[in-house]
Amino acid sequence: MYAFIGREKKIPVSVENLGDYQFFQRENPETIDLETFQDHQAVVIDSREIRFSLGLVNRFRGASTLNLYLKPIFLYSELPIEDSYVMALVDGTVDAATMRGSVSARTEQLADAIAQYKDIEQDTFESTVVVKTLRFMVTRGRRLEPVTMPKSRFGFSYPFLGAQFRDRDDARLFSILDLIDNENLMEKHFVDRIHLCNRCKSSFINFRELCPRCHSADLEVSDLIHHFSCGNVDPETKYKVHDQLVCPKCKKILRHIGMDYDKPSVVHTCRVCQTTSQDPEVWGLCRYCGNDTPSERLLYRDLKSYSLSSASLNFALNGLHFTLADFLKGHLEIVNYPTFQTIAHYENERALRYKRPSVIVNFQLLNFSELVTGFGQRREEVALEMARIIKDTLRDSDIITLLNDNTFVFLLVETPRENAEAVGARLDKRFQGLMASNFPGITLQTHLQAMELTEFIDRKEQEEKQASHE
Ligand SMILES: [Zn+2]
Ligand SMILES: [Zn+2]
Ligand SMILES: [Zn+2]
Repeated sequence: MYAFIGREKKIPVSVENLGDYQFFQRENPETIDLETFQDHQAVVIDSREIRFSLGLVNRFRGASTLNLYLKPIFLYSELPIEDSYVMALVDGTVDAATMRGSVSARTEQLADAIAQYKDIEQDTFESTVVVKTLRFMVTRGRRLEPVTMPKSRFGFSYPFLGAQFRDRDDARLFSILDLIDNENLMEKHFVDRIHLCNRCKSSFINFRELCPRCHSADLEVSDLIHHFSCGNVDPETKYKVHDQLVCPKCKKILRHIGMDYDKPSVVHTCRVCQTTSQDPEVWGLCRYCGNDTPSERLLYRDLKSYSLSSASLNFALNGLHFTLADFLKGHLEIVNYPTFQTIAHYENERALRYKRPSVIVNFQLLNFSELVTGFGQRREEVALEMARIIKDTLRDSDIITLLNDNTFVFLLVETPRENAEAVGARLDKRFQGLMASNFPGITLQTHLQAMELTEFIDRKEQEEKQASHE
């Protein structure tokens, strides 16, 4: 069964007798209960009024269950639809002549592609959105492309991403793009470089040259004239005498450009303080928040389009998974867990023989997935700093491994237990400090546990015994 949703009471005459359609007349796209359409194979939206369909399509794509956000959606219209934003979100347009055939054919193709997925839980809003987006791209064979949006604060949007926010200008858009870029979730293709206000991220910026002395924008631009015979260089205004050019230095008349003189560049003369400069500063004034800033201090981003990579298919299927191992790769020497256990075993025997105990510290970053998303473009910098803190706090002889995606295990050789607890606390304090000074919005949640090495080995043996009994 398919659903036909329209605003008008009157269903288009030509389609009202299609037996496999249920018709719904609704006034406001914002209040429609989407659950009603959970089981329809596809939805056709009457798009004789484009705002109605845009509002409704956005809500479907922003829904949380895949039955709704991947729903095959078609726009019913007798005229071509020019809006590239809404077209990026739907599976085609149909009219009275094509509706019957093309909706069912395309829906069948999509159904197979959609059937490979199950609803899965993700740790953060950003990863949830990325997984939904990947699935939309895979099932539709589409790229994720930016669309110019003069009415958006950022000046652009990505239609499927835009549908995930109540407010189109939600700055979380950038953390989603950072996540895609940093974790290489898709193939990237450069589109353009954009400049954004460094206070409010608006792209509505007025760029202008300012007088380097008094900061006025009231500058007169004129050609600079270089007089060959005497070498004088001055703005054209200083040469102008009636309708002739007369050198202010040697008083000769300049006749032919290229023979008597040339114009090597332009010069800006301030109408307020008369300062001339060849290289005035360029400042950007934000139309949104009034922030005026040197252009080199504005934020810039490379706007990209994205296509699927072989890794994308796996992320779409299984979701995103962030591990400390991936995060710290190349920055810190980490042994794998089986090797760690072997080392721990020998170290334990040595410690027992010489009566110099060693300890194990488990250090867990409970909200690691959330942290990774929050680091954004500074991910590498943070990884480097975290690795540096660990190297500073531990000794070269200590051994590091990872128990799972978010837990370090440290073997601190010849260390009394009290000292181990102090080492753990010092690490925790420095990590907290790193977060507090760089990411005020993020709270690091940790869990620390220290135990004697013998205890760790006993536990391991217990677990092995249990495993062999099962
Ligand atoms: Zn000035
Ligand atoms: Zn001259
Ligand atoms: Zn601004």
